[in-house]
Amino acid sequence: MPLHRLRRDRGRHRGGAAVSVLLPGSRREALELLARSNGAAMPIAGGTDLLVHWPQRQEEHDRAYLDLSGIAELRPVEWTPDALVLGGLTTYWDVIRDARVGRELPLLAVAARQVGSIQIQTRGTWAGNIVNGSPAADGVPVLMAYDAVVVLESVAGREEVPLERFYEGYKQMRRRPDQLVVAIRIPRRPYTFQRFVKIGSRRAQAIAKVGLAVTHSAAGGGGWRVVAASVAPTIRRCPSIERLLEEQAAVHSPEELLPAIARDVTPIDDIRSTAEYRKLAMARVLFYDVFRGREQGAGSTDHGRRMTDNG
Ligand SMILES: Cc1cc2nc3c(=O)[nH]c(=O)nc-3n(C[C@H](O)[C@H](O)[C@H](O)COP(=O)(O)OP(=O)(O)OC[C@H]3O[C@@H](n4cnc5c(N)ncnc54)[C@H](O)[C@@H]3O)c2cc1C
Repeated sequence: MPLHRLRRDRGRHRGGAAVSVLLPGSRREALELLARSNGAAMPIAGGTDLLVHWPQRQEEHDRAYLDLSGIAELRPVEWTPDALVLGGLTTYWDVIRDARVGRELPLLAVAARQVGSIQIQTRGTWAGNIVNGSPAADGVPVLMAYDAVVVLESVAGREEVPLERFYEGYKQMRRRPDQLVVAIRIPRRPYTFQRFVKIGSRRAQAIAKVGLAVTHSAAGGGGWRVVAASVAPTIRRCPSIERLLEEQAAVHSPEELLPAIARDVTPIDDIRSTAEYRKLAMARVLFYDVFRGREQGAGSTDHGRRMTDNG
């Protein structure tokens, strides 16, 4: 349902419950409205996650929404000397259109292009992808592989949480209901290796069976980052695989990676795939794209792949 239809529902009552939409014009006003609702108002940005279940489970949606879409100050992408700062409303399309992203932090653009369709890319936001908390999200893995920091704000002040420590369990995260994601800060570093691979059942409009974002930077605070999606209750880094890469361990086949994969992730059988397939797919991508691919080093401009089950 488009947002303008939702707005028309403002204040409509159904058996005592009501949908209401708060329309702040500034960040400050949004934080005050959120505080006044005791965190009960639900922020809505692009609505591409939130409204998906709207027609089926309408009673769960009878509540107050805080529509962030009119807050212009949350939209721009900002480059500082040492970071790229995405706003709390920055969309995938904003990032795709920024040529500098493609040059400096290309995995952001590669992942953004793999989200849904162009319509979803122009509405969906990076902050919405983070707070939705799906273990199969495409934006979160690349942000985590770039050491992104989530900037949260409430009327009480600001708090910064590294994305790799943001999730506490399935859809559980270190965000209080009175806090908004107002920015996502990504450190600027030179990278020697960057790769994002999404395996799905189709080349487009697919939810990942396995997603992998891998980076290496020799700069201070850098090193290898291996981030996996759809193989655990939350998107997460893989410390055992990272250690093998740091130690430049000799790995001769995908199967040799399986013990480290078993330590790092806990995939399940579900409607999209099986735990077994996910582990094997992860091992093959890591072996062929990362352990072998690292020899291509900084010269490679091929940063991403979307794969179907048939390769
Ligand atoms: C057809 C379709 C295809 C899709 N394909 C993909 C895909 O390929 N890959 C993928 O990863 N996702 C996909 N999605 C999911 C969705 O588009 C993304 O997760 C998107 O990033 C969500 O952003 P949004 O702004 O629309 O979030 P919303 O739906 O507005 O909100 C999502 C959650 O985030 C919260 N929220 C939003 N902004 C803030 C903020 N600033 N501060 C605090 N909380 C906030 C909301 O309260 C809600 O809990 C798809 C969705 C659809 C409908």
